Amino acid sequence: MTDLVILGESMVELSQVEPGLFRQSFAGDVHSVAVYFKRLSSRADKVRLMTAVGHESTSDGLIRALEEEQVDTSLIFRHPTRQLGLYSVTTDANGERSFNYWRSQSAAREVIPLFRDATQVACDGGYSPCGLAPRPDTFFFSGISLAVLSPETRPAFWELVANLYNSGTRIVFDPNYRPKLWESQDQTRTEYAHAFEYAHLTLPGIEDLTTLYGVSDFSSACDLLNQFDIEEMVIKDGPNGVYYRGPGEQFLVPISPVKDVVDTTAAGDSFNGSYLAFRSHGLSPRDAITRAAKVAGIVIQHRGALVEKTRFAEILSQ
Ligand code: ADP
Repeated sequence: MTDLVILGESMVELSQVEPGLFRQSFAGDVHSVAVYFKRLSSRADKVRLMTAVGHESTSDGLIRALEEEQVDTSLIFRHPTRQLGLYSVTTDANGERSFNYWRSQSAAREVIPLFRDATQVACDGGYSPCGLAPRPDTFFFSGISLAVLSPETRPAFWELVANLYNSGTRIVFDPNYRPKLWESQDQTRTEYAHAFEYAHLTLPGIEDLTTLYGVSDFSSACDLLNQFDIEEMVIKDGPNGVYYRGPGEQFLVPISPVKDVVDTTAAGDSFNGSYLAFRSHGLSPRDAITRAAKVAGIVIQHRGALVEKTRFAEILSQ
């Protein structure tokens, strides 16, 4: 049985149906990882999304939506004044999509102090946070999770990661990169270096490493990551395959390119969630990559991050 904790931000998504009319749902990179992990893992596997929301009814809606997907919400904290972040997706006459975000003051940015307040216990000379209980066997966060944490709360985040690492939790990091969320590339590289130092498994997409490190292919990605002591690397590159490097083996898994790509949102996130689920079933890295790539291939043939649950189950069973 796997007990996975995923830290990050889940947002309100407003997706344009026609001019002036929007459909509301919930989304975010870690939201997709959690949902696809739970959909593909066995019943006993558990995933907790660690984030913060507000007290408004939309936040209640997010919690209900996660519970419908059997994602555990016990690590979702309520901020006294802040609310959920929000983004809209509009499509122009040529089918080009554009995104607008309202997330700079979202509750999720304060998840670490809220977690500390909620879990602090009396100790010598005051109070200290007692950590994640029960301790998860896997802890996942992404470059987006890191970017959205209020900068003054990052030292406490690294303290939490160090505690988990030292007590045997497997640390998983996807360095997905959204330049607009960072003050500078130097700041991102500093934070990512900490993350790579702790990571037992990293799941980068080549594109995310290109701007930050000048990486352009699997070989240069491996050279970059070899500077760190990372046990397993699963490097994604769209339809160009997935490269695996782990204890005693390394290989390229080819991908069958999807002809009719509808929307690449959540390609990497659905891959990550399903890869972790398939590994927790006991599949080898190669088989888990092959099956996770099939899941990502299904996701990109549908609009939006989450393929409707029943439809998803139907396609998988075909
Ligand atoms: P990220 O979103 O992390 O940058 P990628 O764009 O590399 O990740 O996509 C993640 C996964 O989605 C790939 O490893 C692959 O399995 C699948 N994928 C992406 N684009 C395609 C495509 N055109 N055809 C088939 N599979 C794809």
